[in-house]
Amino acid sequence: MYDFVIIGGGIVGLSTAMALGQTYPRGKIAVLEKESQWAFHQTGHNSGVIHSGIYYKPGGFKARFCREGNRSMVAFCQEHNIDYDICGKVIVAVEESELPLLENLYQRGLKNGLKVSKISAAEVKEIEPHVRCLAGLHVPSTGIVNYQQVSQKYADLIRLQGGDLYLNTKVVKIISTSNSNLLETTQGEFATRFVINCAGLYSDRVAKLGKVKPHAKIVPFRGEYYELKPEKRHLVKTLIYPVPNPEFPFLGVHFTRMIDGSVHAGPNAVLSFKREGYQKTDFELRDFAEVMTYPGFWRLAAKHADEGIQEIIRSFSKAAFVRSLQRLIPEVQAEDLLPTPAGVRAQALMNNGKLVDDFLILSNKNSVHVCNAPSPAATSSLEIGKAIVEQIVDRAPIEVSTTQETEAAECAKTTETSLSS
Ligand SMILES: Cc1cc2nc3c(=O)[nH]c(=O)nc-3n(C[C@H](O)[C@H](O)[C@H](O)COP(=O)(O)OP(=O)(O)OC[C@H]3O[C@@H](n4cnc5c(N)ncnc54)[C@H](O)[C@@H]3O)c2cc1C
Repeated sequence: MYDFVIIGGGIVGLSTAMALGQTYPRGKIAVLEKESQWAFHQTGHNSGVIHSGIYYKPGGFKARFCREGNRSMVAFCQEHNIDYDICGKVIVAVEESELPLLENLYQRGLKNGLKVSKISAAEVKEIEPHVRCLAGLHVPSTGIVNYQQVSQKYADLIRLQGGDLYLNTKVVKIISTSNSNLLETTQGEFATRFVINCAGLYSDRVAKLGKVKPHAKIVPFRGEYYELKPEKRHLVKTLIYPVPNPEFPFLGVHFTRMIDGSVHAGPNAVLSFKREGYQKTDFELRDFAEVMTYPGFWRLAAKHADEGIQEIIRSFSKAAFVRSLQRLIPEVQAEDLLPTPAGVRAQALMNNGKLVDDFLILSNKNSVHVCNAPSPAATSSLEIGKAIVEQIVDRAPIEVSTTQETEAAECAKTTETSLSS
């Protein structure tokens, strides 16, 4: 009998297991991951940015966890000798109409307690000589790292704490009783007092296996990238972002210098017809049908038809993608860009057509379900892990790994404790 089993070995599941191990050193903890390596999905296909927290609604969990996560991620990398670079970033307005949005972003950054400065077009050029813009913001606390490396270190530390790590182990069924859960997996059964669902793109389905209804469905949005040819990397010194559409959680195609020295351009945000569909042609009938029959999707599509069409055009037309990039750096040409692997975002969408904006974590008596952990969840991973442990400690003080019955049976019915603002 485990005390805690975490489903999903991405950066959130691993940070949660690590935080549980620190809080309950005598606890029996396991992480179950269906793939043959850690951090294979969202965590292994992202932009590698240590976000500052400028974009997020003040007072929300994204804003708080990202700001604190930025610091804790840097401290973690320093402690464990993981390469990172706090290189800062610029956000630039290229049209008059974007200037008020840039000002809003500046105010938001200040409210979120960040050091952010307004800079002129000439000052932007001092940082990024190839950018053409009207004005910009400089955010010095943004950085870059490889989140697969960070996750591997989390896994190593869990093992050192005495945790059990299982790869190639997919959870297919959860049978919950009043005091425990029995997880049926492709590698046999696991009994545990507490289960924590960190299944990313499958988090809503795993929640349903645990009889928790998230009131939101995961919709997969693929983010496609190009990479600058090595001889063109000099065009980008740090990170260059446009002013994002405030109605969307996506940041607009941008330039990112990666920690290995390469420069990525993207990602866009197109509906994927498969939850783990990294290619344009990937298709899974169940995933597709679920989105197409979901009223929330059609409400979203009706409201944002124009943006959706633009994204599809940009996905299929390299010329359209390049035009978006040329708004930031006019010198970039189609022949400077090579395709590079895409990522797929797990974004929760409510039935009313609204994208869940903040992190969303639901709990019941003996389970916790991370139902929305999109960007900046990699940056915030240490803080999300700590917050999940706090929820468990606050709600059900568990005496772990004793022969006594757990005293977690305080909450008789499913409660919805949402980390959404
Ligand atoms: C294109 C893109 C760019 C991004 N850029 C950034 C960025 O620059 N900075 C940032 O902070 N964030 C970024 N993000 C967001 C960030 O990557 C994610 O928020 C974060 O990785 C989520 O981690 P996770 O552990 O929740 O999910 P995942 O990494 O997807 O892990 C979930 C795991 O659960 C496993 N799983 C699923 N079902 C089961 C099952 N039934 N049994 C066992 N295992 C299961 C999966 O195999 C997977 O490994 C980006 C995301 C994308 C897609």
